[in-house]
Amino acid sequence: MSTTTPASTDVQTAAMAELRQIVGPSGWSTDADILAIHATDWTGARFASTPLLLKPASAHEVSQIVGTCRAAGLKIVPQGGNTSLAGGSVPTGDGIEIVVNLSRMNRVREIDTFNDTMTVDAGCILSSLQEEAERVSRLFPLRLASQGSCQIGGNIATNAGGTNVVRYGNTRDLVLGLEVVLPDGRILSGLRGLRKDNTGYDLKQLFIGSEGTLGIITGAVLKLFPRPTAIGTAICALPDLASALDVLSLCKEKTGGQVTAFELMPRQGLELVFKHFPAQRFPLAKLHDWQLLIEFSSSEDEAYQQERIEAVLSEAFENGWIVDAAIATSIDQSRAFWGLREGLAQADMMEGALVSGDVSVPLSAVPDFIEQCSAEVLALIPEGRVVAFGHLGDGNIHYGLLQPEKMTAAEFLVHEPSVKEVIYRHALSAGGSTSAEHGLGSLKNEAVKTYRGDVDHDLMVAIKAAIDPHWMFNPGKVLKRDNA
Ligand SMILES: Cc1cc2nc3c(=O)[nH]c(=O)nc-3n(C[C@H](O)[C@H](O)[C@H](O)COP(=O)(O)OP(=O)(O)OC[C@H]3O[C@@H](n4cnc5c(N)ncnc54)[C@H](O)[C@@H]3O)c2cc1C
Repeated sequence: MSTTTPASTDVQTAAMAELRQIVGPSGWSTDADILAIHATDWTGARFASTPLLLKPASAHEVSQIVGTCRAAGLKIVPQGGNTSLAGGSVPTGDGIEIVVNLSRMNRVREIDTFNDTMTVDAGCILSSLQEEAERVSRLFPLRLASQGSCQIGGNIATNAGGTNVVRYGNTRDLVLGLEVVLPDGRILSGLRGLRKDNTGYDLKQLFIGSEGTLGIITGAVLKLFPRPTAIGTAICALPDLASALDVLSLCKEKTGGQVTAFELMPRQGLELVFKHFPAQRFPLAKLHDWQLLIEFSSSEDEAYQQERIEAVLSEAFENGWIVDAAIATSIDQSRAFWGLREGLAQADMMEGALVSGDVSVPLSAVPDFIEQCSAEVLALIPEGRVVAFGHLGDGNIHYGLLQPEKMTAAEFLVHEPSVKEVIYRHALSAGGSTSAEHGLGSLKNEAVKTYRGDVDHDLMVAIKAAIDPHWMFNPGKVLKRDNA
């Protein structure tokens, strides 16, 4: 690997001109408004400046960009759809971070229906890949509320989870091969669609979930699945949170693994959805403290599947594990059910300041985690409003505390560190994680040292130093160099 020498401003100015040439006239911008959009994250809370936005059109161009930046001592922030929630996709502020956005690399390179794989550019929007798969009667099962904007490269770099993990796993489980531009400019060409390959270390796994700190993903081979023909969606009210676990076990057991999504929706969160989105309708007679949104999918006959879902939910009702339920009778109704779930995060943000943790715990620990954590945060801020919701089927809870109506945002946010400490402590003592699916970015870049311990931290720093010795890719994300 060649070395980076500290560069003068003149060298960097010359490098900027070279970078513009590499990508051609439609591949860059220095327009202040456009730069501001790409330097501000989805929440609007994290932003900094960048001198240049680049939109390369090929892996070769990305490799040339890396070479020029390395020689001039410039840093690179890889960027996809800029929808991530931990600040990983935007610069941190030393003014020499170039944003490299992959949106012009948006080709589906190949679909192989015998191999059940799709080879794609990293800049493809997730929803467009779902549509491509559907066009050939297959399913690409990654599903997130941001799927109309996020890119598959960003999904891979964050190892995105979403609502279908309970059936299909995280993004990591959906990737067979990767093409990655390394910090020395070389291209790791691993676009192999193999389900078996034990020729040494599985290098692609290093880049999945690395949040742009080790390489720029330019292409991927993705797994495809049979497209379900019958999809059933239900909303169920629970007598108590613990019953959710019985309902999940029963549904899995009695439907032969057809449970595709198993989401938790609390009373307080849904009340805010109805407040901020008054057109939304609730399908049950009344709101309960906890409700589930369950989706089943299969290749069975639709009527048969509907009967099966009714039978399972009846059994759950007879066992006292649910107290009410509604099954969607049309695609529109199913979308309306999902609208409630997808409105939860947005309604929270519209209501005021929110302190939240994206945590996961083993499934069996979820009820105790929510109960014990809530008792402690409400002891700290008695009028705070707890909204705990999310992907219960895989143990991932978005646990949030909303600003009390009688406090200003500033008064409330003074308590942010102590509330977060409580959330993370309870997650860890339940054997959980302090970042289930959103990653660490710049928001939690102390987390490896604090929560995972010295051995994990030292190994990660060693990997970073071996692949990116000058910390050129996405500085300040995942790991803090000061801590290294
Ligand atoms: C409404 C909403 C709902 C969401 N729901 C979920 C959810 O259910 N589950 C979930 O996991 N996340 C969710 N997210 C978070 C976000 O959508 C995901 O993290 C997504 O995977 C990010 O993709 P992106 O293309 O927007 O990446 P970006 O935000 O652009 O980047 C994310 C990280 O990946 C790096 N990166 C991006 N592209 C590349 C590349 N080609 N090569 C190398 N590094 C790259 C960036 O440097 C950054 O560190 C949600 C976000 C929103 C706004």
